[in-house]
Amino acid sequence: MSEEDDSLRDLYQDLILDHGRAPRNFQALENPDHEAVGHNPLCGDKIILSLKLDASRRIAQASFQGEGCAISTASASMMTEILKGKTIEDAKALWLVFEEMCKGSQPSEEMAAQFNEDDLLRLTALSGVNKYPVRVKCATLAWRTLLAALDPTSPKSTKTE
Ligand code: ZN
Repeated sequence: MSEEDDSLRDLYQDLILDHGRAPRNFQALENPDHEAVGHNPLCGDKIILSLKLDASRRIAQASFQGEGCAISTASASMMTEILKGKTIEDAKALWLVFEEMCKGSQPSEEMAAQFNEDDLLRLTALSGVNKYPVRVKCATLAWRTLLAALDPTSPKSTKTE
């Protein structure tokens, strides 16, 4: 591995540790427009995700509560930061990119070009878990819970597995 690879890996690790230790948007949201509960029984992670939309149907606020491992907490924390200001369509498109990255593939340039560098950096850091299949469930829990929250046919409490 080159030195550059090492420093990138350190950066990714620092990002995940930082969000795992001091999660952002870790709070209850009163009167959320969308909410869902997600479980990852493999690891014991549980999150409650709440969203508020603004008048133009953009995500004004995303927050989460629950208990989980460092990866699931970091992923939920980064996701709530990423979602702010996004439309629901943007959010779903980002999930598709992240899902591919978690399978070990790089997003196409066309896909990547839709999103800002900060968002992609965070998703790239998390997608490092693709080397550890059990951890992928931890990293994707928040996103799968997001889809459940946005699905109008889904009950408010959803088990995502
Ligand atoms: Zn976990």
